[in-house]
Amino acid sequence: MKPLKELTRPNIWNLAPYSSARDEYSGHEAHVFLDANESPYNAPMNRYPDPLQRELKEEIATVKGIPADYTFLGNGSDEAIDLLYRCFCRPGIDNVVAIEPTYGMYRVCADVNDVEYRPVLLDDHYQMQADRLLAACDDNTKLVWICSPNNPTGNDIDREQVLRVIKAFQGLVVVDEAYSDFSRQRPLRFELPQHPNLVVLNTMSKAWASAAIRLGMAFAAPAIINIFNKVKYPYNINLLTQQQAMQTLKARFDIDAWVQLILQERAQMMGAFRQLPICREVFPSDANFFLARVTDAQAIYDYLVQQGIIVRNRNRVKLCQECLRITVGTRAENTELLSALRKFAE
Ligand SMILES: *Cc1c(COP(=O)(O)O)cnc(C)c1O
Repeated sequence: MKPLKELTRPNIWNLAPYSSARDEYSGHEAHVFLDANESPYNAPMNRYPDPLQRELKEEIATVKGIPADYTFLGNGSDEAIDLLYRCFCRPGIDNVVAIEPTYGMYRVCADVNDVEYRPVLLDDHYQMQADRLLAACDDNTKLVWICSPNNPTGNDIDREQVLRVIKAFQGLVVVDEAYSDFSRQRPLRFELPQHPNLVVLNTMSKAWASAAIRLGMAFAAPAIINIFNKVKYPYNINLLTQQQAMQTLKARFDIDAWVQLILQERAQMMGAFRQLPICREVFPSDANFFLARVTDAQAIYDYLVQQGIIVRNRNRVKLCQECLRITVGTRAENTELLSALRKFAE
């Protein structure tokens, strides 16, 4: 890995962060707060929330097994994705490399930040070859994006290939583990201490059933986390989100049960889907969705919309011609989809 100073945009490396009122007194006990021009009424909503979300990070550390100083919290993973560009990629100069197809936000944020995006096609089994990714990198490549289990393909990316990229690449490797709770593979986040250039993304939006509260995580070495903290908005996680996330994390055994239910349903549903006349192929899944190739993705998508059932049409995505991405829902929802598809007349 190159020194972090060399990877970071010079303006960010030299940035003096905004110092919020709540940052400055820290370490002392206080009970009269006349420093932030807040109202004294309407507690607890009158007060600015903890800018570094210390209590919530401690709870996340317990649940995720990652120390709090390795943790950044954002307004969804999307905030962490955007921050990676803003901290490390010089607009118009630097580039990033990513597997293709994958999650669309990596490219959108590259475009927003005027950073060149270099997609590297997966193979026919939606697997990645480390050598092909590394060959697309040059001296101005700051980030490599890998998503595992990958969206929209649903499969784990081969761990050995991922590790080869992490070890050989001189910049930061971002591995998005939004769906790792549904995979049997051991999450890569546990190997963070061995890899100073690894950033792992997690989210409350999928297994944790909390997409509405907008809470995403980036786990990385404290030196990287400190850069994110310098650049983020001071109060990027509001109090309601922090409180709600605490409650959900404490109910983690309910969440485990939901994940188990979804995994059972996934097996059932993929089996039933394979039997449908419209089905050409169901691809293996390590996530809470699966990708399926069908006879006519657009026609079937339109038909389902008519029935009030929405799936994701991935027909236009590379390597996903005639493919639909289907989220595993409740038993009732899955049954409704399957019976609608049985009635589909070509
Ligand atoms: C859904 C998803 C996310 C979650 O994004 P949030 O902003 O946290 O809701 C992140 N990465 C991938 C690959 C996803 O599919």
